[in-house]
Amino acid sequence: MIRMVYVNGDFLAEQDAKISVFDRGFLFADAVYEVSTILDGKLIDNNAHLRRLARSLSELSMAAPCSDKELVAAQQKLVELNGVNEGLLYLQVSRGVADRDFGYPAHSDSSLVMFTQTKNVIDNPKVKTGLKVISIPDIRWERRDIKTVGLLAPCMGKQSAIDAGADDAWMVQDGHVTEGTSNNAYIVTADNKIKTRQLGNEILSGITRTAVLKFAKQAQLEVVEEAFTLDEIANAKEAFITSASLFVMPVVNFDGKDIGDGKPGPISQQLREIYIATAQERADL
Ligand code: PMP
Repeated sequence: MIRMVYVNGDFLAEQDAKISVFDRGFLFADAVYEVSTILDGKLIDNNAHLRRLARSLSELSMAAPCSDKELVAAQQKLVELNGVNEGLLYLQVSRGVADRDFGYPAHSDSSLVMFTQTKNVIDNPKVKTGLKVISIPDIRWERRDIKTVGLLAPCMGKQSAIDAGADDAWMVQDGHVTEGTSNNAYIVTADNKIKTRQLGNEILSGITRTAVLKFAKQAQLEVVEEAFTLDEIANAKEAFITSASLFVMPVVNFDGKDIGDGKPGPISQQLREIYIATAQERADL
């Protein structure tokens, strides 16, 4: 089956889709994006993703490409056209096409591109083994709260993890973890507190983070939104990450040392189960 993609109002076979070489997303990474999970053909927490998209656009004075209603209709049609039951929907908005110049163009139409990826998001084999993570310096820019496509630093970080035989990297600034290359980072302390960095310009406000922290509180687990150090990871009972595509994923080894007993911990497993069990209630379309 040929994958259909969406480009500025058109649904096209992926090999027929075209983007201008003058698109500012291509030239300057002047673009923002969102990734929503598809379960049973429905998008999970899509409204929250669209609210974050609106915020990213507003922080960059970028116009929305269309109304939310039109956007949702296009998302829905793309999922249907590709018959995706389980996987991801990627959407990207760029400032559009203009002759190359650093200042924002006075007139340009935002461009909207979307594609789907079929993927087993629930039955991820890493759930059973857990992830190995290494620490790397956080070399990203200072507005990580904006979800831009300027992702070269996280790509370099992820590759350095792969080269080190690990699965991912947590980025460290001033001795404290900011987040994972494409996920939020958590530890469970010896006294069973879930610790994750507070929101701010240093990290992305994960949609999965918001959902999981709410579930944790409902399950009477104590949540501390505070930056943690590498020493705290070494003394943690367990660790995990969250993202739209990974849900809650246990971390069992950090910088070559096992966390706890080196196996996925009960709290990460419990939160993953709640997240999956409630996903259908959060299916927005
Ligand atoms: N932090 C970063 C840097 C990310 O790239 C992502 C995933 N895009 C996240 C956190 C997790 O966000 P979400 O739960 O919305 O997928």
